[in-house]
Formats: sequence, C-alpha cells, structure tokens
Amino acid sequence: MPQAGKRPRRSAALRLPLTQGRPAASVGQVYERLEREYGAIRWVPRYDPISELVLTVLSQHTSDVNAKRAFCNLLDAFGSWERVAQASPEEIGRLIYVGGLSRVKAPRIREVLRRIQEMRGSLDLSFLKELPLEEAKEWLCQLPGVGPKTAAVVLCFSLGMPAFPVDTHVHRVSRRLGLVAPGVNADRAHRVLEEAVPPERRFPLHVYLITHGRRVCKAPRPRCEACVLADICPSSLVPPAASR
Ligand code: SF4
Repeated sequence: MPQAGKRPRRSAALRLPLTQGRPAASVGQVYERLEREYGAIRWVPRYDPISELVLTVLSQHTSDVNAKRAFCNLLDAFGSWERVAQASPEEIGRLIYVGGLSRVKAPRIREVLRRIQEMRGSLDLSFLKELPLEEAKEWLCQLPGVGPKTAAVVLCFSLGMPAFPVDTHVHRVSRRLGLVAPGVNADRAHRVLEEAVPPERRFPLHVYLITHGRRVCKAPRPRCEACVLADICPSSLVPPAASR
C-alpha cells in the first residue's frame, strides 16, 4: 500500500533499463525497418487547418474516439467554425461534454477562434503554408492553449509541412530507442526529432512511431520479443544472444 503523502512509484514504462549497453538506434535504421514492417506512407490532407486545430484541442487528455464525437457534435450543431466562435462557452461545453474537460476546452476553443478572426479577419489559416516552418509554429503558439504539439499537428497533418508532432507514443518510443535523451520532455522532443530526421521522412516516421507504440512498444510493458528493432534498441528486453 502506498503511504499517504508519498508520490506513487513511476511506472515501468519510465524505468526500462538500457539492458544491452547499446548506443542509441540510428534514425535511418529505425525508419527503414518500420517502413518494411508497416508499409510506405503517403501524406494526404486530413482536415482544413481550423478543423485540425479544433480537433487537436478536443483531443487533449481524451481518446481519439471521444474527441471525434465532440468534434462532430459541434459541427452538426453549428455548421461552421464562424458560428462556433459566436456561441457561448456553455453551449459549446454541452456539445463537447463527451470529450472531457469541457469547462476548459469550450472557452479555449471559442477564444482561439475569436483571436484568429481578430488577427486575420477570417478563419482561413492557409497563409501558414507560405511561412517558414519556425514562423508558422510561432504564429500558432501565440494562440491561447496552443503549444508545440498542437502547432505541429496542424502544420503537419493539415498543411503537409515538415513539423514533427510528438504525442505520448512518439515520445515514449523515441526515448526508449535513444533518439531522444531521457530528460527531454515532449515539447522539446519536437525540435530534437526535427533536427535528426530529414523533412520528407518526418510525417511517415511520426506515423510509424505511433503505430509501433500502440502495437509493440507499449506502455507500460513493451513487447520486445516481437519487435523488429530489438537488436538495435538500447532499451530492448531481449537478451543479446536471442536478438536478431
Ligand atoms: S519494443 Fe522495441 S523499441 Fe520498444 S523497448 Fe522493446 S525493443 Fe525497444
């Protein structure tokens, strides 16, 4: 039983030993093996940038399924983001309740939409594609509640820009592989991975790391015995003699 007042022990996901004494895996090897495993990935636009931005805010601290439900509720009820911007936080909150944290997310979504309208005169964010990547990120990060992850998702998924979104799966898997140092948090990992990965490989590698994190390199216990990266991963639980 944990004693009152003491912090719970960190999960095994954060304490994987570097069992093999191996150096960090190389980005090139990781990419090529995961591409062989999961197949080639081509970028296709998902939503327009405003929809992507709203969906990403709704995705914070909830499942993709619930975020999508909340997103659809909003669009079904209002029909446009311009009308959402005119709604009260209470109206928005009722519609996104299914996505959790509606009291935080409802005023945030309204504020983000209104700020964009004030700054740009409309809800069209396509101008971001013409900016250098860093400027586009900075522009988005000045919006209330928008951080590096949300900015990277919008730029990458909606506009096809070479940003590297880092979610919990990407962060965990890339730390275990040594692509990101243990003390680097998810916000700083965006920059580390962008520097390490060629632009044309960032979107596919992001998708590969998420897929690998969900299927194999799970938290808290990774399935190293089934992992195509086991022989190059410094956190592998597979003994050296048994690795491929
Ligand atoms: S599942 Fe693969 S990537 Fe994850 S810790 Fe094990 S060997 Fe490394």
